[in-house]
Amino acid sequence: MNALAPYRRLTIKIGSALLVDPAGKLRAQWLADLAADISALKTSGCEIVIVSSGAIALGRGLLGLSAVALTLEQSQAAASAGQIALSQAWAEALGRHGIVTGQILITPNITEERRYYLNARTTIATLLGLGAVPIINENDSVATAEIRYGDNDRLSARVATMIEADCLVLLSDIDGLYTAPPAKDPDAQHIPEVRAITPAIEAMAGGAASHLSRGGMTTKVEAGKIATLAGTAMIIAKGTEHHPLKALTGGGRHTLFHPAQSRAQARKRWIMGTLAVAGTLTVDAGAAGALQTGKSLLPIGVTKVTGEFERGDAIAVLNPDGTEIARGLAGLDSDEARLVMGKRSDAVLELLGTGNRAALIHRDNLVLVGTKEDTSERA
Ligand code: GLU
Repeated sequence: MNALAPYRRLTIKIGSALLVDPAGKLRAQWLADLAADISALKTSGCEIVIVSSGAIALGRGLLGLSAVALTLEQSQAAASAGQIALSQAWAEALGRHGIVTGQILITPNITEERRYYLNARTTIATLLGLGAVPIINENDSVATAEIRYGDNDRLSARVATMIEADCLVLLSDIDGLYTAPPAKDPDAQHIPEVRAITPAIEAMAGGAASHLSRGGMTTKVEAGKIATLAGTAMIIAKGTEHHPLKALTGGGRHTLFHPAQSRAQARKRWIMGTLAVAGTLTVDAGAAGALQTGKSLLPIGVTKVTGEFERGDAIAVLNPDGTEIARGLAGLDSDEARLVMGKRSDAVLELLGTGNRAALIHRDNLVLVGTKEDTSERA
């Protein structure tokens, strides 16, 4: 069975130990074969975002640090040198298939600060729309010890949920979750499917870590929690062999973690529940009707703006009689909103500059109140 068949937007996480050999050299043929798999998936209609480790592993070789245990400063220097080589390797490998890559280096504040979050999400969506493959890693050389992901398992789960991927694939040195770490327990049984991440499942993950990556099965199961709660499935599969994605589409062994709820539900809960409302937009009857048909909220339909908010803050949309009809993430800050309310989009662009965005709330960031509205799957 093709394990990737149900999915259209994939985040694929590649660990250092797959990309870089113990001597610090790129496994170029492995990467070339993976690039061929990625190209085939793209041809079949999938959008692919890569989260790639390997900067530190490549950089330590380049800087001659290979034999020593690295200090934080040395790791950050290694990441700085290695990230160039890593990006180049990806650009070349995918470039051979006519695929353009874009590099994005992120820190936790990008996924936690809503303004950064919206920008990172929009940039990635734009790259995908242009047929490119975003290559993402942690911004290791500037992240401080306190503000870092530390492992790309969790980072990839944040990225997958941020871009609303329907599946996160963790390519690892092991073909999935076992009832116990198989290196320690010869009777360990492979688990093909996990429907819910219970304490029993967490206990199975143990604490194993390979020689290069910081994450073992424990961080993978943690990544699974982040992903599945946001409605993204997760697959752990073995990546050490050549053509690991082709192996998955050909029925290769793996563990599938089922999403705990749909992406639309998760997003709705997030927008409706977790975020405090920073302001309101009152709309006219025309705009209220347009929202019901899945349109973005444009300035022309807005008659009143209250509150002080920044781009990315949660705001409520009120109909002319003051009832809340929708909630969403502001596309503009409140000063800009006051400036452009009631104006046509061409006038808005004139006021804000053509490089700007014209929607007050983009439909992807909007939830209608009191319906089973699915924001993520609208065309
Ligand atoms: N960001 C690190 C690197 O590129 C890897 C972290 C990890 O493997 O979890 O070297």
